[in-house]
Amino acid sequence: MGKRVKYQHLKDYRFYTTLELAKLLKVSKSTVIYWAHHGLEPTKREQRRWKFNGKDVKIYLKKKNNKFKVKTDPGEVYCPSCRASRRAKVKSIELKLTGRKLGKNLIDQIMIYGKCIKCGGQCTQLSSENCIGIFLSYYPDFSGKVPSS
Ligand SMILES: [Zn+2]
Repeated sequence: MGKRVKYQHLKDYRFYTTLELAKLLKVSKSTVIYWAHHGLEPTKREQRRWKFNGKDVKIYLKKKNNKFKVKTDPGEVYCPSCRASRRAKVKSIELKLTGRKLGKNLIDQIMIYGKCIKCGGQCTQLSSENCIGIFLSYYPDFSGKVPSS
């Protein structure tokens, strides 16, 4: 149940039965029934069949999809345009202290800025004095400075 469901083709002001939704969204009927018991209220009942308003379904699935946080892989940053974990272009990487200190040992929190290697979009990723070395080990050509307070 961890995959994103495409729902954009549903029509806002249409009513769908459980089966219609399952077909349109390419999920099983039991998935739709599960949603109905976990926050997706059927708009009405007709002849013992549930009817869902397209708009409600869209809102529900949008929220649900947003819950999947993308985990970034080591040496990667989160690209909001790709909505994915990506490597950054090495020349675009900049490191800045956020001014926050983490934990008992007051480790510097570091923000990584960089451009997505795939789309060129601006990415950011939080890191720290302790973890930045691991990140940079993926970028042996990095020639910038690691800030410290
Ligand atoms: Zn990107």
